[in-house]
Amino acid sequence: MAKSPRKDRTILTHAGNDPEAHGGVVNPPIYRASTVLYPTVREMHERGRQKFDTVYYGRYGTPTTFALESAVAELEEADRAVILPSGLGAVAGALLACLKAGDHLLMVDSVYEPTRTFCNQQLAKFGVSTTYYDPMIGAGIADLIQDNTRVVFVESPGSHTFEVQDIPAIAKAARAKGCLVLLDNTWATPLYFKPFRHGVDLSIHAATKYIVGHSDVMMGIITMKDAHYKQVKTSVHGMGYAASPDDCYLALRGLRTLAVRLAQHQQTALTLANWLKQRPEVERVLHPAMPDHPGHAIWKRDFTGSSGLFGMVLKPFAEERVAAMLDGMRLFGMGFSWGGYESLMIPSHLSHARSVKAWSEAGPTLRLHAGLEDTDDLIADLDAGFARLRGN
Ligand SMILES: *Cc1c(COP(=O)(O)O)cnc(C)c1O
Repeated sequence: MAKSPRKDRTILTHAGNDPEAHGGVVNPPIYRASTVLYPTVREMHERGRQKFDTVYYGRYGTPTTFALESAVAELEEADRAVILPSGLGAVAGALLACLKAGDHLLMVDSVYEPTRTFCNQQLAKFGVSTTYYDPMIGAGIADLIQDNTRVVFVESPGSHTFEVQDIPAIAKAARAKGCLVLLDNTWATPLYFKPFRHGVDLSIHAATKYIVGHSDVMMGIITMKDAHYKQVKTSVHGMGYAASPDDCYLALRGLRTLAVRLAQHQQTALTLANWLKQRPEVERVLHPAMPDHPGHAIWKRDFTGSSGLFGMVLKPFAEERVAAMLDGMRLFGMGFSWGGYESLMIPSHLSHARSVKAWSEAGPTLRLHAGLEDTDDLIADLDAGFARLRGN
């Protein structure tokens, strides 16, 4: 794909659309396909030779898949994207594309927990070893790189605990030793962190979150420069992964409003974070855009915005009181995933989620997603929650 000078919001609005090819209809149609017919044996063989770049068989993607792939790739300043049926699928697909038996992986200790489980259960089974590292390691990652280390995996900010990694320093050290740098960029989305400006080789998104944005589709996306495309596509499709064209359509529809939704999520999250910071029940707020966050300087240097997901550590309260707070919330739903239009709050269970440095806060940690509701209503819901937390 030619490098485009279009700015992000223009890309979001127009990328992947081709009205002239579809009778003037603005959106790309949903092509549902398994079978693709060829008029001649010769054409069948010709298309087979370029099956990654043409409509060849449903599993390789349809024009609906390609519309979404090209839009996300352009937005993230990548050359190519590969769509998978879930975010965890994209994490697994990216790792399996880059690793083989005998290889070693460096994985950040604050990673999304199912990624940790994938490394410990699946990668281990196939002879790939994993060493976890402190998210604050920076250029010190060089000391952990072994002769057989092939991949350094980063996720910033950290899942549930929101440590900000020095990705440029880590990437520089990793690349100097011939390692690939894989990033889970779900929190920032392709809008607020541009991975290929910071030394990343493969960027991974749980599109389930902000790209889809409406809590109704599971999807994963890997983006990359041309140099890695064949390797990733060969591996992902060799394992049989394919995303539904209907889901690709919904993800592309979600993408159109990503910038306006994210701006609102950002603003509401910051308002809530500042309000929570003043509360006597709160020990500290975990939000990289707050000036007193330990990762704030690096966040400010590398990111262009913050999303709606952040955390807070409460003062020590009994488990039943925390449950009373959460059980009674009216607007903040309790559930996994995030990035939809609605607010969420869940307790963070971190006792088995860290192996390098234990999470040693005295009080309980909660994770919040600021949705698109009215901010005053959300604050009133939290205020009533704190009354239940205190037991009155
Ligand atoms: C949710 C999430 C995933 C997994 O995405 P699914 O679509 O739920 O499989 C991966 N990484 C991060 C950071 C996530 O929050």
